[in-house]
Parts: sequence; structure tokens; C-alpha cells
Amino acid sequence: MTEPDCLFCRIVAGEIPAIVVRETPNTMAFRDIAPKAPTHVLVIPKEHYADVASLATDDPALAGEVLATVADVAAAEGILGDGFRVIFNTGALVGQTVFHAHAHVLGGVAMDGELT
Ligand code: IMP
Repeated sequence: MTEPDCLFCRIVAGEIPAIVVRETPNTMAFRDIAPKAPTHVLVIPKEHYADVASLATDDPALAGEVLATVADVAAAEGILGDGFRVIFNTGALVGQTVFHAHAHVLGGVAMDGELT
């Protein structure tokens, strides 16, 4: 299932360019266009789900595949050992701007433990 007007569906379709760092049959990882850390990669399911909550509810196996790709990206980026942060913004209230489920994988710099 894809949404023709969805930015990330269009990246999956190859209609919008992206720096893809990893791809599996059901997931894709590409560099964020406005990185907030030395490593800032977005990991998405290729299928369209508006956010991680609907993804996890409707297809928990695919949600697990997204997390596996997160771990593979962290290893490939060399941030697995030092530590990294994974964020799923869920809803406009907390800053979600692209309504296709995505994990932000952030690392390569020290961060404090504050959540906001
Ligand atoms: P959100 O705010 O959690 O929805 O995150 C959306 C992210 O998508 C932001 O960090 C944007 O910088 C990023 N983004 C927007 N357009 C593109 C693009 O075309 N390629 C890669 N990342 C993008």
C-alpha cells in the first residue's frame, strides 16, 4: 500500500532522490536531508503507515523489521558501540511532519539523557 502524495512513498518509488544507506525487501534507510547529528538516518517501512503506532498495531512483524534495520544501520554507521538514539515522532503535537512511519537514528555526538 502506498500513498501517491506521501514524500517517503515517493522516495521508495524512486521519484524523489535520497541517499539510501540500506535497503531490505520491506524497509529502507536514507540520510535525513537536514541532519541533527553527524549520523542522522531515517528508517522506514516501504509500505505506508502514518506512524509507528499504526505500524506496530497493523503489522508488528514489519515493525520488528524496521527495528532490525535500525540496528543494522547503527552497526554500519559505526555508532553501535558508542551509543545512539532512536526517535519515532508520533503526531503533529510532538513534531511529526512526515506522516509515513519513520525512525530517526541519531549518533556520532554526545547527548544528554533529557527527553525534551
Ligand atoms: P519528523 O519531523 O519526525 O516527521 O521527521 C521528518 C524528517 O524528514 C525531518 O527530519 C526532515 O529533515 C526529513 N526530511 C524531509 N524531507 C526529506 C527528504 O526529502 N529526504 C530526507 N529527509 C527528509
